[in-house]
Amino acid sequence: MTVEYARKLDEKDELAHFKDEFYLLENKIYMDGNSLGLLSKRAEQTLAELLGTWKNLGIDGWTEGEHPWFYLSEKVGEQMAPLVGGQKEEVIATGSTTTNLHQLVAAFYEPAGKRTKILADELNFPSDIYALKSQLELKGYSPDEHLIRVKSHDGRFLKEEDIVAAMTDEVALIVLPAVLYRSGQILNIEYLTQEANKRGIPIGFDLCHSIGAIPHHLHKDGVDFAFWCTYKHLNGGPGSVAGLFVHEKHFGKAPGLAGWFGSDKSAQFDMSHTMTPSSHAGAFQIGTPHVLSLAPVIGALELFEEATIEKVRKKSFALTDYFLQLIDQELNGFGFTVGNPVDETRGGHILLEHKEAARICKALKQDGVIPDFRAPDGIRLAPVALYNTFEDVWHTVQILKSIMKERRYEQFENKRGIVA
Ligand SMILES: *Cc1c(COP(=O)(O)O)cnc(C)c1O
Repeated sequence: MTVEYARKLDEKDELAHFKDEFYLLENKIYMDGNSLGLLSKRAEQTLAELLGTWKNLGIDGWTEGEHPWFYLSEKVGEQMAPLVGGQKEEVIATGSTTTNLHQLVAAFYEPAGKRTKILADELNFPSDIYALKSQLELKGYSPDEHLIRVKSHDGRFLKEEDIVAAMTDEVALIVLPAVLYRSGQILNIEYLTQEANKRGIPIGFDLCHSIGAIPHHLHKDGVDFAFWCTYKHLNGGPGSVAGLFVHEKHFGKAPGLAGWFGSDKSAQFDMSHTMTPSSHAGAFQIGTPHVLSLAPVIGALELFEEATIEKVRKKSFALTDYFLQLIDQELNGFGFTVGNPVDETRGGHILLEHKEAARICKALKQDGVIPDFRAPDGIRLAPVALYNTFEDVWHTVQILKSIMKERRYEQFENKRGIVA
């Protein structure tokens, strides 16, 4: 396969023009959009607009200006709703992934009788596990006995049948990722939710690696709750405000961790000591929104509104498909193992496993490719539909091949850096 073939694919790409919306890093191929998406001009613009309302209106920015801050969390929630398949009242922009998980578990984990356990999985992201353990401890349960982690057979994937088999009458809550952060496996939300609903167990999903990469149908699927960050595939910026979904069937449920921004908007400034909660997902907010970390998300999401998540997924899948073909043809015999699903259950990134992964990543960086190392042996590479090209994928594989051929990774230590 030649670079000309990659260029032909780029010519036929109907999302190609979105690349011009982003600040691409000079002389770099960015393959790390699943960890931190790049800055877009729109995101920069909405951030500048909100700085402007602070500058020009002071406190009146809460209710005036183009994006009044008081209603911004709801507005961004509405923008995110199509990405998760939620109704607009079911989605709110607030907190961070981990604080939202705490908030939702505090509300949905209601141990009673012999139903006291939380069901998760052994491949989950550490922060989610820390949060679940601390929530168990807060309710007086030992995490060693009460946190069930479904096992993986190969350290990469989970089997839905194993998860369903673990949905016993001792389980009070289920929390799972929609896309596994390492292998990129997509779990079948519809099926898992059906099985959980049948057994009367509330189920929630972490969408950190799926939102902005694959479509979701949380409302239709009957998912009880979900939460996600906005700085990965959504390109909201470092530490941008996260999101959560609470199904309409739970409207009126008390938030686990109450705060005045969960109030009904018209009652919030009554300053009463009795809270009048919002009648929708907004009830799960806690304090004053981080307006300047919410501002870029407005612009970043406009790009998804224009591109549509269906087209983003279609291109993303074609990019990873092309990636896998090239890996198969060009990287044979260098000791790589493909650690992501190769079928339609793969999310938005590739996982290459190699015992020298840490220093291969350093060599890639030296040669202008930005990968993502995940200990102990994972190289994650995410060709992002909105700003990566088929040609980027082609170059990435060629560079990787020359690093392996010439063993250029040997000049580095096989140890990870602090962040990746
Ligand atoms: C990125 C990520 C997080 C990060 O949580 P923060 O609260 O934003 O730091 C948590 N869980 C998963 C699965 C993630 O991918």
